[in-house]
Amino acid sequence: MTDQGTEPDSTDVVVVGGGPSGCAAAVFTARYGLDTVVFDRGNAAFRRCAYLENYLGFPAGIGVDTFTALMHEHVAEVGADYVADMVVSVERPGDDAGGNASDADARRFVVRTQDDRRVEADYVVAAAWYDGDYLRGLDDDDAMFEEHDHHGEVHEHFDASYADDDGRTPVEGLYVAAPSGERNAQVGIAAGQGGHVARCLIEDRRRERGFPGDLARHYDWLRADTEFQGEWGDRDRWREWFESEVPDDADLDDERLAELRESYIDRAFDTRRTDHEVETAEPRGIRRLVEAIGTERVLDALPDEALADYLDGRELGGVEQ
Ligand SMILES: Cc1cc2nc3c(=O)[nH]c(=O)nc-3n(C[C@H](O)[C@H](O)[C@H](O)COP(=O)(O)OP(=O)(O)OC[C@H]3O[C@@H](n4cnc5c(N)ncnc54)[C@H](O)[C@@H]3O)c2cc1C
Repeated sequence: MTDQGTEPDSTDVVVVGGGPSGCAAAVFTARYGLDTVVFDRGNAAFRRCAYLENYLGFPAGIGVDTFTALMHEHVAEVGADYVADMVVSVERPGDDAGGNASDADARRFVVRTQDDRRVEADYVVAAAWYDGDYLRGLDDDDAMFEEHDHHGEVHEHFDASYADDDGRTPVEGLYVAAPSGERNAQVGIAAGQGGHVARCLIEDRRRERGFPGDLARHYDWLRADTEFQGEWGDRDRWREWFESEVPDDADLDDERLAELRESYIDRAFDTRRTDHEVETAEPRGIRRLVEAIGTERVLDALPDEALADYLDGRELGGVEQ
């Protein structure tokens, strides 16, 4: 967790909720290069899960605390700030500024927390499954909330259909990864939805910056070096392809189009990984897993014979050296 005082008071993206939906969203926005802060405190569905047996890739399941630690490590690894604090309100004061604020300022959200933090952000991703109250300042209650009869008592709930399937809402810059109805009902799907909503946010941002048509879409892919061999190793071939993808009705001057094209190609080439890079990434990945899980627990999990063989091997290795 980041110490209070060293956190930014201004960021690109605030994610409200550090469960599976929010952490997945933060991994995508931060990897794209957007400064991202995740606030996380309050009612959590995930903490009510006894043990996670159906998340792909963990054949015998994984403990909720261990999985949570891994999610938070991942958020840290991509450079996002994780802050254990609860968001109490999100507002856009620029809406009331009567046209005095510049467009960019007027669009900024002000996020306030239980521990008196105040952070300005261009985008907010709501990812708190049980909570939408903090969003009340952004639109009419009638639009965001629905009434629900529970054993004769009327309750208000954030209306999951306020956002569309991609998490976009009528409030520009506000995205909802949770609550999003049934998509939050399983951890694997909630994580997928968080990532999807973040990709839509990134696409919208790219569109605002001028990327036309499908060129605004962003794919967080890494590609083997071999994919860049032959003609696709040549930037001119990419330039030619980019130009062919620009829709006829794109309204961009040549200079801006060239800037966008070069930044598109830079990003594409950044996804290139050599065999050597992949070979060094894998042991580092395993090491980060072991660190997050804890060396003691990993050693405890080794069958006795395997541990004895390993220690013998190390001793022999020591003698030989
Ligand atoms: C009893 C039970 C058992 C379950 N078992 C399974 C299972 O075995 N397998 C499975 O796939 N799914 C299971 N689920 C579902 C699973 O928990 C959800 O799919 C998943 O947790 C949804 O993730 P989320 O990030 O959308 O929401 P959450 O897990 O609820 O995460 C939201 C996060 O936001 C934080 N938060 C809330 N309000 C605020 C705020 N105002 N400001 C900042 N942070 C806030 C919370 O502290 C929390 O960490 C179970 C659910 C329950 C209730």
